[in-house]
Amino acid sequence: MHILYLDESGTHSDARYFVVAGVVLFEADTYYLAQDMDGLQAKYFPGFAEPIAFHVSPLRGAHGQSNDPYPSLEPARRKQLITEVYQVIAKSHARTFAVAMEKSYIMGDCYDRGFEEIVNRFDRMLARFARDGNPQRGLIVAAESSYRENLETLARKIARDGHRWGRTRNLADIPYFAPAANTRLLQVADFVANAVFGRYEKGYSRDFDLVMPRFDQDGGDLHGLVHLHSSRLDCFCPACMSWRARPRTAGARLPEGPPNEGSD
Ligand SMILES: [Zn+2]
Repeated sequence: MHILYLDESGTHSDARYFVVAGVVLFEADTYYLAQDMDGLQAKYFPGFAEPIAFHVSPLRGAHGQSNDPYPSLEPARRKQLITEVYQVIAKSHARTFAVAMEKSYIMGDCYDRGFEEIVNRFDRMLARFARDGNPQRGLIVAAESSYRENLETLARKIARDGHRWGRTRNLADIPYFAPAANTRLLQVADFVANAVFGRYEKGYSRDFDLVMPRFDQDGGDLHGLVHLHSSRLDCFCPACMSWRARPRTAGARLPEGPPNEGSD
C-alpha cells in the first residue's frame, strides 16, 4: 500500500496562489520518516515527552505572539529546524506531488481542482508501478480542514464517476481525514505545501529546491509538480518546462484553456 498525505497552503484571501500538496510513502517507509521528525523534536525540544506538532507557518511567523506554539524556540533555531525538516524530506523515500494554482486563473474551487489533479496523478503513478510489476493500492489521508465537507462529496464523486480525466483504478478506499497534530506525515505535507507556495507566491526557492528532487518523475518527465496559471507558455519553472516538453498526440493543442487546462 502507498499512502498519500495531503495538505494545502495559501488559504488566506490576500494570497495570489493556492497550493495543494501531497507526500506519498510506501507503508513500510512511513515509520522512518516519522522517526526522523521525532528525532528533530528531541533535538529542538529536549525534555518534552509529548509529541509537538511541527507547523511551518507559526514556526516562520508567530515568534513573540501570544498564540506562538513554540515560545521556547529562538528565531535562529526556528530557521534551522525548518531547514532540517526539508533536509529530512529530501533524503526520505517519499514521492511528492503539488499543484500550484493562480487563484484568478482557476474556474471553480481551487481545493477541488488541486485535489482532483493530485488524485489523478497518484492513481497514474500506481498504474505505472503496476506496469513495472509492482502492483500496489493507494490510500489518501487528508489534513482536517474547512474543506472536509466539500472534499468528502468530491471524493465520493471521484470514486463513483472517476475524475475529469478518467476513472481511478488503484485506490483502495475513500479518503480519510485526520488532524495534522496526530501524524508527522501530514506535518511533512504541510512543509511541502508551504515550500511550493513560497516558490510561486514569493519567488523564495531555498526550501523548494531541497524538496524538488522528491517530486514524482519518470524518465525525466516531471509528473509530481503542476503550475496552473495564465502564462504556462512563458514560464520557466520546472513544472511548465516539463509540461511544454511533453510529447503530445497529433491534433492536441498546447495552449489549453479552461476547463481542460493542463490535464497532463
Ligand atoms: Zn510554471
